[in-house]
Amino acid sequence: MTDDALQPDPSLIGGVPKPPLAFLPEPVKLFQARARRFAFLAEGHDLAAYLTFLAELSRLQARLAATLPALAPLPPEWMAKAADGGMPPIDRSRLVDDPALAATLQALLVGAAELDMPEAGREALDAVRMSDTRDRQWLLGNVLADDIPADAIAPHLFVAAAVQVHLSRLAATLDAAALTPVAAGVCPACGGRPATSSVTGAQGIENVRYASCGGCATRWNEVRVKCLCCGSTKGISYRSVGTDEATVKAELCSECKSWVKILYQVRNASLDPVADDVGSLGLDMLMRDADFTRGSFNPFIVGY
Ligand SMILES: [Zn+2]
Ligand SMILES: [Zn+2]
Repeated sequence: MTDDALQPDPSLIGGVPKPPLAFLPEPVKLFQARARRFAFLAEGHDLAAYLTFLAELSRLQARLAATLPALAPLPPEWMAKAADGGMPPIDRSRLVDDPALAATLQALLVGAAELDMPEAGREALDAVRMSDTRDRQWLLGNVLADDIPADAIAPHLFVAAAVQVHLSRLAATLDAAALTPVAAGVCPACGGRPATSSVTGAQGIENVRYASCGGCATRWNEVRVKCLCCGSTKGISYRSVGTDEATVKAELCSECKSWVKILYQVRNASLDPVADDVGSLGLDMLMRDADFTRGSFNPFIVGY
């Protein structure tokens, strides 16, 4: 989603617009913008081939989001359970054997076969294409749990791309105004972890921070200085490659020893919560030497 899509809540409190809790994704626009951003970042980048592949994959996600049959709204009992229990309305644990998600995965696997990719990627794709229902549900279960085994990243990448399409389309059926906060660093739509957070430059909510779900791409409001892993507002510090004016920084928490990237869209509106996470892998290299764990979820850079 571009920053243009963020519109302030018209309700005013003391003359200042109250930042909305959440912005739901517009899947087609989201993946189209992400594809453009990956393609832009690829130019002259050390990871140009990979970023170009991810641009193509994002383009495929946009095409699927535009052409797959419309999803049925969430079952009313999921919504009721969420409202009662302070849970997100999308219950990921119920999606492992969802026929619509299985169909989305199948469509993505067919479309991905047309993409250019290195031999290892091709082999992983072929393995998933030939896998049976049980194996696919194991892969889907890992992705839906935001827990991708480090020794099987390539097959999960394709499955995660399908899950992103499905979750973002499901999230788009929700009512943003009906969402309630779940916990610090937890997506109020699907319960997922953030890929990154962004300090927005959108008019009316300048300098407000939104975390971006690595699964459904819903963006939700978080205070500016807070650990998105444990919720601590103490012991937070920032690191970046280069200057203080960097548009991507690592937010470190000394309480739980984890870190998540924070993007300054207020300085560059075209930053994408997922693409710029991959594009700023130099920051991950810097953090590799630190005694902190990467606390975010982005299936395109698992293993760093
Ligand atoms: Zn989510
Ligand atoms: Zn923490």
